[in-house]
Amino acid sequence: MLAPAKIEERRRHLEARLRHAHERLRGDMPDEHRTWKTKVLIPDILDALERINQNIYGICERCDESIPLARLMVRPEARNCVSCQEANEKEREHAA
Ligand SMILES: [Zn+2]
Repeated sequence: MLAPAKIEERRRHLEARLRHAHERLRGDMPDEHRTWKTKVLIPDILDALERINQNIYGICERCDESIPLARLMVRPEARNCVSCQEANEKEREHAA
């Protein structure tokens, strides 16, 4: 589990990302960026904030292992550890 201070720091970072995403949406951007922000990035950030509230932030949804802090520093909205993320992507490729 992450230390409470680290989680609080990630929460502030996520909230800043969310504000930034909303600000960017008010400006001009290519449609695919807009779609990605509204359909992927913003829901992922909201989901991560919700997981912080539920005290399950930083735990992989697939294998229940802790997601390394280094990964959460780069992608604070990550739901999975790297190996599960790759497994998910492979499954998605097969499903498509
Ligand atoms: Zn995992």
